[in-house]
Amino acid sequence: MKLWVGTSWKMNKTLTEALEFVADLRAFIDGLDEGVDARVQPFVMPSFTVIRDVARALADTPVLVGAQNMHWAERGPWTGEVSPLQVQDCGAGMVELGHSERRTHFGETDDTVARKVEAAVRFGLTPLICVGETFEQRQRGRTDDVLRAQTEGALRLLTGAQRAAPILFAYEPVWAIGAGGTPATPEDADARQRHIKEVAGSVLAARPPVLYGGSVNPGNAADLVACAHIDGVFVGRAAWSAQGYVELLTIAAGAAPC
Ligand code: PEP
Repeated sequence: MKLWVGTSWKMNKTLTEALEFVADLRAFIDGLDEGVDARVQPFVMPSFTVIRDVARALADTPVLVGAQNMHWAERGPWTGEVSPLQVQDCGAGMVELGHSERRTHFGETDDTVARKVEAAVRFGLTPLICVGETFEQRQRGRTDDVLRAQTEGALRLLTGAQRAAPILFAYEPVWAIGAGGTPATPEDADARQRHIKEVAGSVLAARPPVLYGGSVNPGNAADLVACAHIDGVFVGRAAWSAQGYVELLTIAAGAAPC
């Protein structure tokens, strides 16, 4: 199975900056040997404002493009929101849902994540569902309960064939994300991701891939992706330069197969 290596740009990059990144990434991809291509599945998640341009610029490459959020409704009076139809229309094939920054700052709940996951699947978008416990929840020994609740909650509205659709998870402990975050150890992430897989696998037709996210960098990526239940990495800061992202792609491509 390919290792997923993706980056969300969060609220960064103008169109010029985005296209510079893509040009540099393309130069790397064009020089890839087939073996690397066969081992890694790259994806980028830009801001809505540049998705169409980035998707066009990467159309003939293996790099998938996704949005960082969306509404669940197809259209309607939801000022400022972006619908699954619009995400699909601008060339994205994936959508990140439930990131902890959206849960913390924008009122995202397991209920809204569930609606969005169902809508994504209905519109043929692959959801990348982010789950993860806070530091306090971990301190209180509640990590596995929180991960179970978020995982089951996200999948709760899927019915019938929807449960066989492509779905990805990212284990992103809140304490590991962003400036000041401490990366999870590979052993700990592996154990939590096994739990997420088991919980999701009891709802879905098969156990989904689970990526690890939270302070991934060139120094820890190889050890993380070598773990049995870590199917790739989802990266913020360390992949915001094309050079940084390419370095992580290269590390993943060279990692021992799981
Ligand atoms: C994230 O916010 O999803 C993330 C993984 O960020 P970083 O890699 O910068 O910790």
